[in-house]
This record gives sequence, C-alpha cells and structure tokens, in this order.
Amino acid sequence: MERMEATTVRVGVLGCGNVGAALVALVHEQRQTVADRTGMVLEVAAVAVRDTSVHRDVPCPPDTFTADAAAVVNDPGIDVVVEAMGGLEPARQLILEALASGKPVVTANKELLAAHGEELYLAAAAAGVDLLFEAAVAGAIPIMRPLRESLAGEPLTRVMGIVNGTTNFILSRMSDHGATYADALSKAQELGYAESDPTADVEGFDAGAKAAVIASLAFGARVVPADVYHEGISGVTVDDIEAARAMGHCIKLLAVAERGTSVDGAVEIGVRVHPTLVPFNHPLAAVNDNFNAVFVEGEAVGELMFYGRGAGGRPTASAVFGDLIDAAGNLRRGHGAPIGALSDVRVSPIGDIESAYYLSIEVDDRPGVLSDVAAVFGGHDVSIRSMEQIGLGAEAQLRFITHLARESDLQETLRGLRELDAVRSTGSVLRVIGD
Ligand code: NAP
Repeated sequence: MERMEATTVRVGVLGCGNVGAALVALVHEQRQTVADRTGMVLEVAAVAVRDTSVHRDVPCPPDTFTADAAAVVNDPGIDVVVEAMGGLEPARQLILEALASGKPVVTANKELLAAHGEELYLAAAAAGVDLLFEAAVAGAIPIMRPLRESLAGEPLTRVMGIVNGTTNFILSRMSDHGATYADALSKAQELGYAESDPTADVEGFDAGAKAAVIASLAFGARVVPADVYHEGISGVTVDDIEAARAMGHCIKLLAVAERGTSVDGAVEIGVRVHPTLVPFNHPLAAVNDNFNAVFVEGEAVGELMFYGRGAGGRPTASAVFGDLIDAAGNLRRGHGAPIGALSDVRVSPIGDIESAYYLSIEVDDRPGVLSDVAAVFGGHDVSIRSMEQIGLGAEAQLRFITHLARESDLQETLRGLRELDAVRSTGSVLRVIGD
C-alpha cells in the first residue's frame, strides 16, 4: 500500500514552564507515533518565554526560543498555538489574535477561561477554528471533551468534582494521619503540592474557576467565577473529620454544578464549591491524596466517573497534547468544533440551594433540651435524618445530619438554635451529599 505523504504542522508554544516544557518533550518523543497514526508531523517551531537567557532542558534548538509571544502568534508559518503561560493578560489578547488569524488554540488556562470563556469561544466560532482546553479542568482527566462531545445531547442533572489536588491532599492527610490543617498544609507545601501563598487553592478560588468552566460546558450557560459561591477548607478541623467518619462519611472539597428549577418553574443552575460530607460508599470517597475526579449524573446516561491526576507538568501536558493533535487534525480537515454562544440561565443564589447538612451544637445536658432543639429545626422546615449525642453529664455535643433543606432555612435554624438558653455554641456546618 502506498504511504500517504505526511503533513508538517508547525506549533507555536507560549510558555515553557511545567506544562509547556513537558509538552515540548512529549511532542518530540511521540513524533513518529503521531505521524504514523495521523499522517501529521508535529514540529515545535517557536517557544515564547519571558527570559530567553535561562537554559531549558527541552529538545529544541536555542533559536526556537523568543521573548516575543506576539511574534509567534502572528507568524504566518505557525499553524497551531498552544498557550501555556497562564494569567489573564497577555494570554487573552494573544489567544484572540491567534484565533483571528485562523490559528487553532490549545490552552490549559482555567483562570482565563473562567473569566473570559465566552469571548474566546465566540472568537473561535467566528474564525471557524478550534479552541480546546481539556487540561484547564482536572489536568490529565478527559472531562471537557466528554462534556462537549459525548454528552452534548445528554440531559445532565449534576456534575460534581474533586478538582483541586492541593486541598484533596490536605484533607486526605488530616483524615489518614490525624494531622491538623496547618500541619497538612505544611506537608503539601514541602512536597510542592501547595504554593507558598495557598489562598487560591485552600479558599476554593481555583476550584471555583473550574466549577464555572464545568457549569458553562455542562449546561451551555454563561457562568463566571463571580457566580460561584465558594467556601474553602481552612476551617475544617480534625474533629469535623472524626465526627463525619463516625457518621459514615469523609470530607472532600467538591465543586458542584447542578440543574434545578426555580419557584416559577424556570430552569436555573446552582454552582458552588464547599467542603462536603461524602458517604464512604460513594465513588468520590475513594479519591485520595492529590488525585482528582469528576462524577457526572444525567437522566439518560446515569452515573459516570472520571478519575486521574489533576496537575503536574507531564500529566497536564498529556491532555494538552491530545488537544493539539485534535486541533491540528481539524485544521487539516478545514473545520473546527466550536462551542458557540452560551445562554443566559439564572444561577441560583446560595440561599435558594437545597442540600442536606451536617451540624453540631454544644448543649447543657438537661431534660427538655432535645425537644426544644427539635422544635427549632421543625419550625424552619428542616427535618433531621440522623442525630447522635456525644458525652454525658453537664455538657453534651449533639450532631445532626438533616434531610434536604434550603440553605436559607438552615441559616434561620442556626439563628434559632443560638437563641436557646441550653445551646452553648454551634460548631461547623457542612453540606452532605447522598449515597
Ligand atoms: P509556569 O511553570 O509558571 O510557566 C509559565 C511559562 O510561561 C514560563 O515559561 C514563562 O516564562 C512563560 N511566560 C509567562 N508570561 C509570559 C509572557 N508574557 N511572555 C512569554 N512567556 C511568558 O506555569 P505552568 O505551571 O506551566 O502553568 C501554565 C498554565 O497551565 C497555567 O494556565 C496553569 O493554570 C495551567 N495548568 C497548570 C497545571 C500544572 O500542574 N502546572 C495543571 C493544569 C493547568 P519564563 O520561564 O521565562 O518565566
């Protein structure tokens, strides 16, 4: 059989850090395999970095490097652009320029997509080329492509993810080693899993940006990070983890995007990030250390789970590489796979969200207290699924898991409980997912 002439696809890579450098290496290592399978020879023709004087241990000649990222994007000899520099600007402007000149773009930049996703999706659609971003959410795990393609017609009901490896590592460490939050965070920093300023991870901003991207793709809705309610894990204590364990749960930081219906019957979506009690028999409970997973529920498909490494140069570059091959192939075939416009769907305020809750209160252990406490729950339409009492004598702790309740009703319940004479203090309040 006659062998097809291979087409050379010239790739411009913006950024040569953890992800960019690993991508350049992968493209080099897999060059022959990709050529054999796709008929395309991928060639990294230019790499933009901030500082060209730094030696980079990557398989490309020194004259591939430039500090002029705009020149890479505007070079007519470059066919496809990979953005692996991070941040909002100049990444946004460079991607827009690349798309406008008909070059497909692959990016791993969740922060940018969360903030300016729609502008970029529309620019790609207008140019008829791809904007692919598999690596932007949950690193190596294929979840963007399934949401965009395999599940494009699926009536999805909920997508829940452990999408931040740093916080999953910290919570696993607290759970498995009894470490305090501070000790677990130091360990994560020592291992390079957490930044010296860990705020973006531990306070849920990073997971919030990913939740916005997930919600946009899953529900075709315009969702930006400001729409996403987020709580981090810095307030989670070893006592919370022990209490959750005693009630058959572990604690995970979940990003949740779900479809709901407003009181007037319109579709709305809830998007939020918070520490959550997950029953031990739920598949997400088995996702430990710095691994990620995304659990998808749909009316037709049922339940799916995607699991793997959410970060790290090479795993992330693997997802970028898959997108690069796809984008190059689509360019050769002369079409892109646009996401197109997102619709205006109401994002529910957190007070309207329904969830089950875990909460604990310290009370005086005396006759009549339980019925007073139960009356406060009942008075605000919050029904108790399970309760246990810890400690006897003058003081006791009561731990509750509720049935589904509205957040605003739960907050009113807490206010009511704090007003009871017998209640000395209220403890952590955490949401609970069902099994
Ligand atoms: P990184 O290690 O900090 O690398 C960034 C690279 O971009 C560096 O080579 C830097 O040049 C270059 N750069 C930055 N601004 C530039 C500019 N204005 N012009 C030219 N070059 C510029 O970052 P990373 O960890 O690889 O992350 C890259 C992207 O992937 C980010 O959007 C990140 O959110 C995303 N991501 C990363 C991971 C991960 O595990 N690391 C996982 C998922 C997604 P110098 O080297 O000269 O400074």
